[in-house]
Amino acid sequence: MSTGTRDTRNQQWLTELRTTLTNEFEAQTAQLTQLTADTGDPAEAHTQAALIAATRQSLEQISDALRRIADGSYGSCEKCGGQIPPARLEVLPQARFCVPCQEKQNR
Ligand SMILES: [Zn+2]
Repeated sequence: MSTGTRDTRNQQWLTELRTTLTNEFEAQTAQLTQLTADTGDPAEAHTQAALIAATRQSLEQISDALRRIADGSYGSCEKCGGQIPPARLEVLPQARFCVPCQEKQNR
């Protein structure tokens, strides 16, 4: 088993991930524009504000992940510097911490 093969596959995976995240970023930006543009009825204002906040946070996480892909730090835990398991990144592409660090963070 050569590491070269694994690196190539990893690189390809990152390219695909970057495309997915870029699409997601665009979709969420469009959603945010729609949410903020809608004058709506006051009864929905609260729900809408929560949605806007959640979308903004999500956009931040996506752009952060894209930045980390660009600078090569993607996939490393920001706390302990360890590798985040690829299985976790597939489920949660914008993960910044490995599982143990994330659990500590959530406390
Ligand atoms: Zn960690």
